[in-house]
Amino acid sequence: MKKFAVLGNPIAQSMSPFIHQLFAKQSNELLQYDALLIPKTSFSEYATNLFENEEFKGANVTVPFKQEAAKFASVLTEEARIAGSVNTLIKLDNRVVVGANTDGVGLVNDLVLNNVGLSGQRVLLIGAGGAARGVISPLIQAGVASIAIVNRTYDRAISLINHFKHKQLEALSLDQLNQDGHHFDLVINSTSASLYGELPGVANTVLAHAACCYDMAYASEPTIFVAQCEQLGVKQCIDGLGMLVGQAAESYFLWNGVRPDVKPVLAALRQRL
Ligand code: NDP
Repeated sequence: MKKFAVLGNPIAQSMSPFIHQLFAKQSNELLQYDALLIPKTSFSEYATNLFENEEFKGANVTVPFKQEAAKFASVLTEEARIAGSVNTLIKLDNRVVVGANTDGVGLVNDLVLNNVGLSGQRVLLIGAGGAARGVISPLIQAGVASIAIVNRTYDRAISLINHFKHKQLEALSLDQLNQDGHHFDLVINSTSASLYGELPGVANTVLAHAACCYDMAYASEPTIFVAQCEQLGVKQCIDGLGMLVGQAAESYFLWNGVRPDVKPVLAALRQRL
């Protein structure tokens, strides 16, 4: 039987085993998918052992190992190389392990599924961590006009635009953003603030002008950021559950060559939260 796993620490909360079993059911594939708690200092050792198993075909990688996974992979896809971060490891027949990053595709596909147009749009990306890194190139490829990056720690926003060197990118401090009356079509919250019940510090006037606000975090109730944007009257307020299923679907495709139907899986997951 083909074996897969998600590797992280912590990992008990992971919904990836549930998602991948539903994908497998759709395509009548028999596979094993485990959630494995990896000691924080032993990623490479554990991954090496796993991939030596003949049946083990691939892994998802989550916090805090995405950067280590990029070092572990023998080859990187273009997205993973640019992002410096890997969330999917794929064993090729000759035992070469490819590192890919499907977070960006997951986000873009979820926006498309929600009929959020991207071509020519002005985007505000809040946050400059690993998740922000992974979505910048896919958003540019999807045709957005510009991405302004704002982050609690301004230096990290600067580092990010210096890393990418795309002309469509600019870094703003929270003060600049909140004082200068900037307007955006799409606001994406890629910070982990919602996980702590906190808001990322962007002024209501900025958020209220957006046609769509997207929070990469998700929960059984609307996240604090989604709730704030709804209250401000933003037309489309979306949480990150669809991105989670979207990135998983792309991993599944890379491993099995089959594109799962994300809609029923997203509905089942929403019920399970
Ligand atoms: P990182 O730890 O790499 O980055 C965290 C980011 O959040 C930094 O920009 C940090 O700012 C900012 N931040 C944290 N707390 C606050 C706060 N209280 N106020 C303002 N900014 C804050 O995490 P990731 O980038 O990997 O993940 C970010 C979020 O995206 C998480 O919620 C994660 O669950 C979600 N995610 C969702 C996915 C999905 O499929 N839906 C996929 C990947 C991630 P600073 O630099 O100042 O510390």
